[in-house]
Amino acid sequence: MGTKFDQLHIFFFPYMAPGHMIPTLDMAKLFASRGAKSTILTTPLNSQTFQKPIEAFKNMNPDAEIGVEILDFPCRELGLPEGCENTDFIISNYKSNSGDLTQKFMFATEFLKEQMEQLMETMKPDCLIADIFFPWASESADKLGVPRVAFHGSGYFPICAAHCIDVHKPHKKLGSSSEPFVIPDLPGDIVITAEQFIDRNAETEMGRFMLESWGSLGKCFGAVMNSFYELEPAYADFYQKTLKWGSWHIGPVSLCNRRLEERAERGQKSTVDENECLKWLASKKPESVIYISFGSMTSFTNAQLIEIAAGLEASEQNFIWAVRKEESKDLGEKEEWLPEGFEERTKGKGLIIRGWAPQVLILDHQATGGFLTHCGWNSVLEGIAAGLPMVTWPVGAEQFYNEKLLTQVLRIGVSSGARKFARMVGDFISREKVEKAVREVMAGEEAEERRRRAKEVAAMAKAAVAEGGSSYNDVDRFMEEVRVVRAANKVGQSHE
Ligand code: UDP
Repeated sequence: MGTKFDQLHIFFFPYMAPGHMIPTLDMAKLFASRGAKSTILTTPLNSQTFQKPIEAFKNMNPDAEIGVEILDFPCRELGLPEGCENTDFIISNYKSNSGDLTQKFMFATEFLKEQMEQLMETMKPDCLIADIFFPWASESADKLGVPRVAFHGSGYFPICAAHCIDVHKPHKKLGSSSEPFVIPDLPGDIVITAEQFIDRNAETEMGRFMLESWGSLGKCFGAVMNSFYELEPAYADFYQKTLKWGSWHIGPVSLCNRRLEERAERGQKSTVDENECLKWLASKKPESVIYISFGSMTSFTNAQLIEIAAGLEASEQNFIWAVRKEESKDLGEKEEWLPEGFEERTKGKGLIIRGWAPQVLILDHQATGGFLTHCGWNSVLEGIAAGLPMVTWPVGAEQFYNEKLLTQVLRIGVSSGARKFARMVGDFISREKVEKAVREVMAGEEAEERRRRAKEVAAMAKAAVAEGGSSYNDVDRFMEEVRVVRAANKVGQSHE
């Protein structure tokens, strides 16, 4: 721990979505355990998500300094429904019709600028780690002489891939958006199609926002990356040499959660009893269960859910399936998104979690042998840290890039066959494709080889965060560089 005299005070300001708040809490804990004072800025409703895990963390680490500062977010005045303080609210209440509201919410967050600046003025943090979706934070930090560090929640690979596509626009030269092409300049001859990413341009309001967010990266002090060097060395090097933006790779940050309670409850309270879930897993043979989850944002049609269920049943594998659906009011009644008699036929073989699953706990269990994922970056890293081969089913955001990292670079992923980028509801995948991909990841000689590779990458992840590892050292490097800025600022002030 640093002395009080040289202790750094870091502000963390996450975008209000589970995929951003969960790793931010992990980062705040990580830096607090390394002697910094961590303060998370968020709105009243979201602060509740942080309070309990922070209390638990403080009980385990009495010397650690970590807390939350609350920013007012008057939904009604901002033209948002009451309680609309995060994307989870939007997805849960507005289902597949949530695109416009998400965009409105994203733009409304700029309302927080003034309050954030006031807090910086009174609390004088040494650094502001603000989400990439708050491009305006750079200007505020500059004004107050505080280094602004970006957090964009993904790895080097997707950033480099998107950069190469932006620069070379290879898809503009093709006859069809489904024609595969190699991403120019990017190491590894990565193949993709134009229908798998958003063409970032200034033609739409959202496109302009994305370009602005992206552009703000170059103006930041640097970015903290939830990744580790050994996972994607060619891309970490490419980022540094070609984009020339500063970065520190400090992940996988989920590995800072060592105790069962910390791993069980990330982001939200699980809708299943963790002990029941662990008991169920303990009754299964090692590496015999596939875990299925599409993260916190994706919602599928009932027809697609029926297809997933049928494919899982046909694959004859044990499974835990986290479905973002409300609990059926009458359990005796047939649920429209499950084939008739599905739960009776798969009793003992499958466990359905309606709502929020204790994902990391499940992934880390020895009975779990595969992960069917939508390729959100947190899920990808959590799967990697658990040493699991994956079935890839990307839907939107940067998920298709993440898929290519898993299938073409690390070769620990098998594609489900999802072909097209969507905002919320993904491609329709048949039961036959689900069955084939699940079998391919879970059983057979190639599956063993894939699993062996996945375990090697997991060992590298653990070594990276252990004392002396690449991520551990980059936390030190980051703190040192912020200290240098602080010292320089002090000298500057004393000359004024
Ligand atoms: N998560 C969870 N339980 C669930 C669904 C998601 O704990 O039932 C966590 C998951 O472990 C990950 C995060 O929510 O940390 C989702 O982030 P990701 O980047 O994978 O996807 P997103 O939700 O942002 O699309």
